[in-house]
Amino acid sequence: MGNFIFHGCDAAELAREFGTPLYVMSEDEAIDRIRAVKSCFDDSYERCRTHFASKSFLSRDMLGIIESEGLGLDVVSGGELYLARDEGFPPEKIAFHGNSKTDSEIRDALEYRIGKFVCDSLQEIAAIGGIARAVGARAKILIRVNPGVEGNTHRHMLTSGGRTKFGIRSSEIADAVSLCMGLENIELGGFHFHVGSQLMDNSAHLAALDVLLGLIKRLKVELGFDTEVLDMGGGFGVAYTDLDKPAPIDEFIRPMVGRVCEFCASNGIFRPDLIIEPGRFIAGPSGITLYTVCSVKEVPGVAIYAGVDGGFPDNPRPALYEAKYDAVIADKFGEPRTETVTIAGKCCESGDILIRDIALPHVERGNIIAVLCTGAYNHSMASNYNKNPVPAVVAIRGGVPRVSVRRQTYADIFACDSPKT
Ligand SMILES: *Cc1c(COP(=O)(O)O)cnc(C)c1O
Repeated sequence: MGNFIFHGCDAAELAREFGTPLYVMSEDEAIDRIRAVKSCFDDSYERCRTHFASKSFLSRDMLGIIESEGLGLDVVSGGELYLARDEGFPPEKIAFHGNSKTDSEIRDALEYRIGKFVCDSLQEIAAIGGIARAVGARAKILIRVNPGVEGNTHRHMLTSGGRTKFGIRSSEIADAVSLCMGLENIELGGFHFHVGSQLMDNSAHLAALDVLLGLIKRLKVELGFDTEVLDMGGGFGVAYTDLDKPAPIDEFIRPMVGRVCEFCASNGIFRPDLIIEPGRFIAGPSGITLYTVCSVKEVPGVAIYAGVDGGFPDNPRPALYEAKYDAVIADKFGEPRTETVTIAGKCCESGDILIRDIALPHVERGNIIAVLCTGAYNHSMASNYNKNPVPAVVAIRGGVPRVSVRRQTYADIFACDSPKT
Protein backbone atom coordinates (compact mmCIF):
# COMPACT_ATOMS: atom_id res chain seq x y z
CA MET A 1 0.00 0.00 0.00
CA GLY A 2 2.98 2.28 0.52
CA ASN A 3 3.72 5.12 2.85
CA PHE A 4 2.24 8.59 3.25
CA ILE A 5 4.11 11.11 1.09
CA PHE A 6 4.13 14.71 2.32
CA HIS A 7 5.36 17.22 -0.26
CA GLY A 8 7.72 14.74 -1.85
CA CYS A 9 8.97 13.15 1.37
CA ASP A 10 8.08 9.72 2.75
CA ALA A 11 6.74 10.55 6.23
CA ALA A 12 7.76 7.21 7.79
CA GLU A 13 11.26 7.74 6.38
CA LEU A 14 11.39 11.24 7.93
CA ALA A 15 10.39 9.73 11.28
CA ARG A 16 13.20 7.18 11.02
CA GLU A 17 15.80 9.75 9.99
CA PHE A 18 14.93 12.62 12.33
CA GLY A 19 13.09 10.89 15.20
CA THR A 20 9.66 11.56 16.66
CA PRO A 21 7.74 13.50 17.70
CA LEU A 22 8.61 15.65 14.72
CA TYR A 23 7.16 18.80 13.23
CA VAL A 24 7.42 18.80 9.44
CA MET A 25 6.87 22.07 7.57
CA SER A 26 6.57 22.28 3.79
CA GLU A 27 8.15 25.58 2.85
CA ASP A 28 6.80 25.13 -0.67
CA GLU A 29 3.26 24.96 0.68
CA ALA A 30 3.83 27.97 2.95
CA ILE A 31 5.17 29.98 0.00
CA ASP A 32 2.23 28.92 -2.21
CA ARG A 33 -0.21 30.03 0.47
CA ILE A 34 1.62 33.33 1.03
CA ARG A 35 1.48 34.05 -2.70
CA ALA A 36 -2.20 33.07 -2.90
CA VAL A 37 -3.28 35.47 -0.16
CA LYS A 38 -0.87 38.27 -1.07
CA SER A 39 -1.62 38.28 -4.79
CA CYS A 40 -5.36 38.22 -4.16
CA PHE A 41 -5.02 41.26 -1.88
CA ASP A 42 -2.53 43.10 -4.12
CA ASP A 43 -4.75 42.54 -7.18
CA SER A 44 -7.81 43.93 -5.45
CA TYR A 45 -6.43 47.18 -4.02
CA GLU A 46 -3.70 49.67 -4.86
CA ARG A 47 -2.20 50.29 -1.42
CA CYS A 48 -2.21 47.21 0.74
CA ARG A 49 0.15 45.15 2.81
CA THR A 50 -0.06 41.56 4.01
CA HIS A 51 1.48 40.90 7.42
CA PHE A 52 2.27 37.43 8.74
CA ALA A 53 1.06 36.83 12.31
CA SER A 54 4.33 35.42 13.62
CA LYS A 55 2.69 33.99 16.73
CA SER A 56 1.25 31.21 14.52
CA PHE A 57 4.71 29.85 13.63
CA LEU A 58 8.08 31.53 13.97
CA SER A 59 11.58 30.34 13.20
CA ARG A 60 14.61 31.87 11.55
CA ASP A 61 13.78 30.05 8.31
CA MET A 62 10.16 31.19 8.39
CA LEU A 63 11.28 34.76 8.97
CA GLY A 64 13.51 34.47 5.90
CA ILE A 65 10.53 33.37 3.81
CA ILE A 66 8.33 36.17 5.14
CA GLU A 67 11.00 38.72 4.25
CA SER A 68 11.80 37.35 0.81
CA GLU A 69 8.10 37.13 -0.07
CA GLY A 70 7.73 40.80 0.87
CA LEU A 71 5.32 40.43 3.78
CA GLY A 72 5.19 42.53 6.91
CA LEU A 73 5.49 40.93 10.35
CA ASP A 74 3.16 41.06 13.34
CA VAL A 75 4.80 40.45 16.70
CA VAL A 76 3.11 40.25 20.08
CA SER A 77 6.07 39.96 22.41
CA GLY A 78 9.65 40.98 23.06
CA GLY A 79 10.66 37.43 22.15
CA GLU A 80 9.20 37.59 18.66
CA LEU A 81 10.68 41.07 18.24
CA TYR A 82 14.06 39.75 19.39
CA LEU A 83 14.23 37.21 16.57
CA ALA A 84 13.09 39.74 13.96
CA ARG A 85 15.80 42.10 15.14
CA ASP A 86 18.44 39.39 15.35
CA GLU A 87 17.71 38.50 11.72
CA GLY A 88 17.62 42.13 10.62
CA PHE A 89 13.98 41.97 9.50
CA PRO A 90 13.08 45.43 8.09
CA PRO A 91 11.81 47.33 11.18
CA GLU A 92 9.41 49.54 9.24
CA LYS A 93 7.48 46.40 8.27
CA ILE A 94 6.95 45.28 11.88
CA ALA A 95 3.73 45.86 13.82
CA PHE A 96 3.67 45.27 17.58
CA HIS A 97 0.33 43.91 18.84
CA GLY A 98 -0.97 42.68 22.17
CA ASN A 99 -3.09 43.91 25.05
CA SER A 100 -0.35 44.08 27.67
CA LYS A 101 2.98 45.46 26.47
CA THR A 102 5.74 45.97 29.02
CA ASP A 103 7.85 49.11 29.28
CA SER A 104 10.93 47.21 28.16
CA GLU A 105 9.10 45.74 25.14
CA ILE A 106 7.96 49.26 24.19
CA ARG A 107 11.49 50.61 24.64
CA ASP A 108 13.04 47.80 22.54
CA ALA A 109 10.48 48.34 19.78
CA LEU A 110 11.09 52.10 19.72
CA GLU A 111 14.83 51.56 19.66
CA TYR A 112 14.45 49.25 16.64
CA ARG A 113 12.17 51.89 15.03
CA ILE A 114 9.36 49.46 14.22
CA GLY A 115 6.67 50.54 11.78
CA LYS A 116 3.82 50.70 14.26
CA PHE A 117 2.33 49.78 17.58
CA VAL A 118 -1.24 48.55 17.61
CA CYS A 119 -2.59 50.05 20.82
CA ASP A 120 -5.12 48.27 22.95
CA SER A 121 -6.02 50.86 25.62
CA LEU A 122 -5.89 54.61 26.32
CA GLN A 123 -3.42 53.89 29.09
CA GLU A 124 -1.11 52.12 26.66
CA ILE A 125 -1.24 55.06 24.25
CA ALA A 126 -0.22 57.40 27.07
CA ALA A 127 2.54 55.00 28.20
CA ILE A 128 3.99 54.69 24.69
CA GLY A 129 3.78 58.47 24.32
CA GLY A 130 5.70 58.91 27.58
CA ILE A 131 8.43 56.40 26.73
CA ALA A 132 8.76 57.80 23.20
CA ARG A 133 9.24 61.30 24.66
CA ALA A 134 11.83 60.03 27.13
CA VAL A 135 13.91 58.36 24.41
CA GLY A 136 13.36 61.09 21.83
CA ALA A 137 11.37 58.93 19.39
CA ARG A 138 8.10 59.29 17.56
CA ALA A 139 5.81 56.27 17.83
CA LYS A 140 3.49 55.47 14.96
CA ILE A 141 0.37 53.77 16.19
CA LEU A 142 -2.91 52.22 15.15
CA ILE A 143 -5.77 51.97 17.62
CA ARG A 144 -7.29 48.52 18.02
CA VAL A 145 -11.06 48.88 17.97
CA ASN A 146 -13.39 46.34 19.52
CA PRO A 147 -16.18 46.51 16.97
CA GLY A 148 -18.48 44.54 19.28
CA VAL A 149 -19.02 41.84 16.66
CA GLU A 150 -18.78 38.16 17.57
CA GLY A 151 -17.43 35.69 15.01
CA ASN A 152 -18.69 32.13 14.86
CA THR A 153 -15.77 30.22 16.42
CA HIS A 154 -14.74 28.60 19.72
CA ARG A 155 -15.18 31.11 22.57
CA HIS A 156 -11.45 30.91 23.32
CA MET A 157 -10.73 32.10 19.78
CA LEU A 158 -13.04 35.14 19.93
CA THR A 159 -11.25 38.47 20.06
CA SER A 160 -14.16 40.86 19.61
CA GLY A 161 -17.53 41.36 21.24
CA GLY A 162 -18.87 42.52 24.59
CA ARG A 163 -16.75 40.25 26.80
CA THR A 164 -13.34 40.22 25.14
CA LYS A 165 -10.20 41.66 26.73
CA PHE A 166 -9.09 43.02 23.36
CA GLY A 167 -9.44 46.46 21.87
CA ILE A 168 -11.01 49.78 22.73
CA ARG A 169 -14.80 50.03 22.54
CA SER A 170 -16.24 52.21 19.77
CA SER A 171 -17.69 54.59 22.37
CA GLU A 172 -14.18 55.42 23.62
CA ILE A 173 -12.48 55.84 20.26
CA ALA A 174 -13.09 59.58 19.95
CA ASP A 175 -11.39 60.05 23.34
CA ALA A 176 -8.49 57.88 22.22
CA VAL A 177 -8.08 59.91 19.02
CA SER A 178 -8.17 63.18 20.95
CA LEU A 179 -5.57 61.78 23.34
CA CYS A 180 -3.28 60.94 20.41
CA MET A 181 -3.75 64.36 18.85
CA GLY A 182 -2.53 65.90 22.10
CA LEU A 183 0.59 63.76 22.39
CA GLU A 184 3.62 65.14 20.56
CA ASN A 185 5.46 61.82 20.28
CA ILE A 186 2.48 59.85 19.01
CA GLU A 187 1.53 59.72 15.36
CA LEU A 188 -1.88 58.10 14.88
CA GLY A 189 -2.17 56.43 11.49
CA GLY A 190 -5.53 54.73 11.83
CA PHE A 191 -7.36 51.72 13.15
CA HIS A 192 -7.20 47.97 13.53
CA PHE A 193 -9.67 45.20 14.20
CA HIS A 194 -9.29 41.43 14.49
CA VAL A 195 -12.57 39.66 15.11
CA GLY A 196 -11.34 36.15 15.87
CA SER A 197 -9.54 33.14 14.54
CA GLN A 198 -10.43 30.07 12.47
CA LEU A 199 -13.46 31.77 10.88
CA MET A 200 -15.16 29.90 8.04
CA ASP A 201 -16.50 32.99 6.24
CA ASN A 202 -16.13 36.75 6.30
CA SER A 203 -19.51 37.69 7.79
CA ALA A 204 -17.90 38.83 11.07
CA HIS A 205 -15.20 40.72 9.18
CA LEU A 206 -17.84 42.54 7.10
CA ALA A 207 -19.93 43.40 10.15
CA ALA A 208 -16.82 44.75 11.90
CA LEU A 209 -15.81 46.65 8.78
CA ASP A 210 -19.18 48.44 8.77
CA VAL A 211 -18.60 49.54 12.37
CA LEU A 212 -15.09 50.75 11.58
CA LEU A 213 -16.10 52.61 8.41
CA GLY A 214 -18.89 54.37 10.31
CA LEU A 215 -16.35 55.33 12.94
CA ILE A 216 -13.87 56.61 10.36
CA LYS A 217 -16.56 58.83 8.86
CA ARG A 218 -17.64 60.15 12.26
CA LEU A 219 -14.06 60.99 13.26
CA LYS A 220 -13.57 62.84 9.99
CA VAL A 221 -16.72 64.91 10.59
CA GLU A 222 -16.32 65.47 14.32
CA LEU A 223 -12.57 65.78 14.78
CA GLY A 224 -11.33 66.37 11.25
CA PHE A 225 -9.27 63.20 11.57
CA ASP A 226 -8.18 61.51 8.33
CA THR A 227 -7.64 57.75 8.66
CA GLU A 228 -4.62 56.69 6.63
CA VAL A 229 -4.44 53.01 7.59
CA LEU A 230 -7.12 50.40 8.19
CA ASP A 231 -5.92 47.00 9.40
CA MET A 232 -8.56 44.27 9.04
CA GLY A 233 -6.79 41.52 11.01
CA GLY A 234 -6.53 37.82 10.22
CA GLY A 235 -8.67 34.86 11.20
CA PHE A 236 -9.09 33.22 7.79
CA GLY A 237 -9.99 29.61 8.55
CA VAL A 238 -8.45 26.36 7.33
CA ALA A 239 -9.79 22.80 7.06
CA TYR A 240 -8.54 20.66 9.94
CA THR A 241 -11.02 17.90 9.07
CA ASP A 242 -13.57 17.25 6.32
CA LEU A 243 -16.17 18.96 8.50
CA ASP A 244 -14.45 22.35 8.13
CA LYS A 245 -15.48 24.17 4.96
CA PRO A 246 -13.64 27.48 4.95
CA ALA A 247 -14.49 29.94 2.18
CA PRO A 248 -11.68 30.33 -0.38
CA ILE A 249 -9.34 33.20 0.51
CA ASP A 250 -10.52 35.48 -2.31
CA GLU A 251 -14.09 35.16 -1.03
CA PHE A 252 -12.84 36.52 2.29
CA ILE A 253 -10.77 39.34 0.90
CA ARG A 254 -12.48 40.74 -2.19
CA PRO A 255 -15.80 41.57 -0.51
CA MET A 256 -13.93 43.31 2.31
CA VAL A 257 -11.96 45.45 -0.09
CA GLY A 258 -15.14 46.07 -2.07
CA ARG A 259 -16.92 47.32 1.04
CA VAL A 260 -14.09 49.79 1.80
CA CYS A 261 -14.05 51.12 -1.78
CA GLU A 262 -17.83 51.57 -1.92
CA PHE A 263 -17.99 53.30 1.43
CA CYS A 264 -15.16 55.70 0.68
CA ALA A 265 -16.58 56.56 -2.74
CA SER A 266 -20.12 57.17 -1.53
CA ASN A 267 -19.04 59.18 1.53
CA GLY A 268 -16.27 61.21 -0.06
CA ILE A 269 -13.64 59.73 2.27
CA PHE A 270 -9.96 59.24 1.45
CA ARG A 271 -9.19 55.54 0.76
CA PRO A 272 -6.95 54.27 3.55
CA ASP A 273 -4.02 51.88 3.12
CA LEU A 274 -5.31 48.40 3.92
CA ILE A 275 -3.61 45.63 5.91
CA ILE A 276 -4.51 41.99 6.55
CA GLU A 277 -2.73 39.69 8.98
CA PRO A 278 -3.10 35.99 8.18
CA GLY A 279 -1.32 33.48 10.43
CA ARG A 280 -3.09 30.13 10.47
CA PHE A 281 -4.03 30.39 6.76
CA ILE A 282 -0.33 30.40 5.84
CA ALA A 283 1.21 28.13 8.45
CA GLY A 284 -1.54 25.66 9.40
CA PRO A 285 -1.88 23.42 6.33
CA SER A 286 1.88 23.68 5.66
CA GLY A 287 2.74 21.46 8.61
CA ILE A 288 2.16 17.98 10.00
CA THR A 289 3.37 16.27 13.18
CA LEU A 290 4.76 12.72 13.22
CA TYR A 291 4.50 10.47 16.26
CA THR A 292 5.45 6.90 17.08
CA VAL A 293 2.79 4.68 18.63
CA CYS A 294 4.12 3.44 21.99
CA SER A 295 1.10 1.56 23.29
CA VAL A 296 -2.20 0.20 22.05
CA LYS A 297 -4.78 -0.54 24.72
CA GLU A 298 -8.36 -1.58 24.23
CA VAL A 299 -10.81 -0.56 26.93
CA PRO A 300 -13.83 -2.70 25.95
CA GLY A 301 -16.90 -0.65 25.16
CA VAL A 302 -14.92 2.59 25.55
CA ALA A 303 -12.07 3.00 23.09
CA ILE A 304 -8.92 1.63 21.55
CA TYR A 305 -6.30 3.99 22.93
CA ALA A 306 -3.20 4.44 20.79
CA GLY A 307 -0.65 6.20 23.01
CA VAL A 308 1.96 8.24 21.14
CA ASP A 309 5.30 9.77 22.11
CA GLY A 310 4.01 13.38 22.12
CA GLY A 311 0.72 15.16 22.72
CA PHE A 312 -0.15 18.12 24.92
CA PRO A 313 3.39 19.53 25.09
CA ASP A 314 3.67 19.77 21.28
CA ASN A 315 -0.03 20.40 20.59
CA PRO A 316 -2.17 21.87 23.39
CA ARG A 317 -4.95 22.92 21.01
CA PRO A 318 -7.29 19.94 21.60
CA ALA A 319 -7.15 20.68 25.34
CA LEU A 320 -7.45 24.46 24.91
CA TYR A 321 -10.05 24.73 22.16
CA GLU A 322 -11.47 21.23 21.75
CA ALA A 323 -9.68 21.41 18.40
CA LYS A 324 -10.28 18.54 15.99
CA TYR A 325 -7.59 17.05 13.74
CA ASP A 326 -7.32 14.41 11.06
CA ALA A 327 -4.53 11.81 10.97
CA VAL A 328 -3.16 8.92 8.95
CA ILE A 329 -0.93 5.97 9.79
CA ALA A 330 2.06 6.97 7.69
CA ASP A 331 3.35 3.41 7.29
CA LYS A 332 -0.11 2.01 6.47
CA PHE A 333 -1.25 4.69 4.09
CA GLY A 334 -4.20 3.75 1.92
CA GLU A 335 -5.08 0.62 3.93
CA PRO A 336 -8.77 0.39 4.77
CA ARG A 337 -9.76 2.29 7.90
CA THR A 338 -11.23 -0.61 9.86
CA GLU A 339 -10.76 0.53 13.48
CA THR A 340 -12.01 3.43 15.58
CA VAL A 341 -9.06 4.68 17.58
CA THR A 342 -8.44 7.43 20.13
CA ILE A 343 -4.96 8.91 19.78
CA ALA A 344 -3.74 9.72 23.28
CA GLY A 345 -0.82 11.92 24.24
CA LYS A 346 1.80 10.81 26.75
CA CYS A 347 1.18 13.40 29.47
CA CYS A 348 -0.23 12.69 32.90
CA GLU A 349 -3.45 14.53 32.06
CA SER A 350 -6.74 12.88 31.14
CA GLY A 351 -7.33 15.81 28.79
CA ASP A 352 -4.22 14.95 26.79
CA ILE A 353 -6.09 13.37 23.88
CA LEU A 354 -4.97 14.41 20.40
CA ILE A 355 -7.88 12.88 18.43
CA ARG A 356 -10.96 11.08 19.71
CA ASP A 357 -12.58 8.27 17.73
CA ILE A 358 -10.84 8.48 14.40
CA ALA A 359 -11.17 5.71 11.80
CA LEU A 360 -7.73 4.23 11.07
CA PRO A 361 -6.24 1.01 9.74
CA HIS A 362 -5.31 -1.56 12.40
CA VAL A 363 -2.89 0.32 14.66
CA GLU A 364 0.13 -1.36 16.25
CA ARG A 365 3.00 -0.39 18.50
CA GLY A 366 5.74 1.17 16.37
CA ASN A 367 3.43 2.61 13.72
CA ILE A 368 4.04 6.22 12.67
CA ILE A 369 1.03 8.50 13.00
CA ALA A 370 0.92 11.74 11.03
CA VAL A 371 -1.45 14.36 12.46
CA LEU A 372 -2.34 16.77 9.68
CA CYS A 373 -2.60 20.57 9.54
CA THR A 374 -0.46 21.24 12.61
CA GLY A 375 1.71 24.02 11.14
CA ALA A 376 0.04 26.85 13.08
CA TYR A 377 -0.15 27.26 16.87
CA ASN A 378 1.53 23.93 17.59
CA HIS A 379 5.29 24.57 17.59
CA SER A 380 4.61 28.13 18.75
CA MET A 381 2.54 26.88 21.70
CA ALA A 382 4.86 24.02 22.66
CA SER A 383 5.81 23.60 26.31
CA ASN A 384 8.11 21.38 28.35
CA TYR A 385 5.27 19.92 30.44
CA ASN A 386 6.35 16.62 32.01
CA LYS A 387 9.83 17.77 30.90
CA ASN A 388 9.28 16.68 27.33
CA PRO A 389 11.73 18.32 24.91
CA VAL A 390 10.23 20.50 22.16
CA PRO A 391 10.42 18.43 18.93
CA ALA A 392 12.58 19.40 15.99
CA VAL A 393 11.15 21.19 12.96
CA VAL A 394 12.14 19.61 9.67
CA ALA A 395 11.59 21.89 6.69
CA ILE A 396 10.94 20.54 3.20
CA ARG A 397 11.94 22.55 0.14
CA GLY A 398 11.69 21.00 -3.32
CA GLY A 399 11.22 17.53 -1.82
CA VAL A 400 14.43 17.81 0.21
CA PRO A 401 14.16 17.69 4.02
CA ARG A 402 16.54 19.44 6.43
CA VAL A 403 16.56 20.26 10.14
CA SER A 404 15.28 23.82 10.47
CA VAL A 405 14.98 23.89 14.27
CA ARG A 406 16.87 21.20 16.15
CA ARG A 407 15.21 19.03 18.77
CA GLN A 408 15.60 20.29 22.34
CA THR A 409 17.82 18.06 24.44
CA TYR A 410 17.12 17.09 28.04
CA ALA A 411 20.06 19.29 28.98
CA ASP A 412 18.39 22.26 27.20
CA ILE A 413 15.33 21.83 29.41
CA PHE A 414 17.39 22.26 32.59
CA ALA A 415 20.00 24.68 31.23
CA CYS A 416 18.51 27.64 33.12
CA ASP A 417 18.57 25.98 36.56
CA SER A 418 21.14 27.30 39.00
CA PRO A 419 23.37 24.55 40.40
CA LYS A 420 21.66 23.23 43.50
CA THR A 421 22.64 24.95 46.69
C1 LIG B 1 -3.56 36.02 16.11
C2 LIG B 1 -3.77 37.27 15.35
C3 LIG B 1 -3.82 37.24 13.96
C4 LIG B 1 -3.72 35.97 13.16
O1 LIG B 1 -4.84 35.18 13.34
P1 LIG B 1 -5.04 33.87 12.42
O2 LIG B 1 -6.32 33.32 12.88
O3 LIG B 1 -3.88 32.98 12.69
O4 LIG B 1 -5.07 34.34 11.02
C5 LIG B 1 -3.94 38.44 13.30
N1 LIG B 1 -4.04 39.62 13.98
C6 LIG B 1 -4.01 39.66 15.33
C7 LIG B 1 -4.09 40.96 16.01
C8 LIG B 1 -3.89 38.50 16.06
O5 LIG B 1 -3.87 38.55 17.38
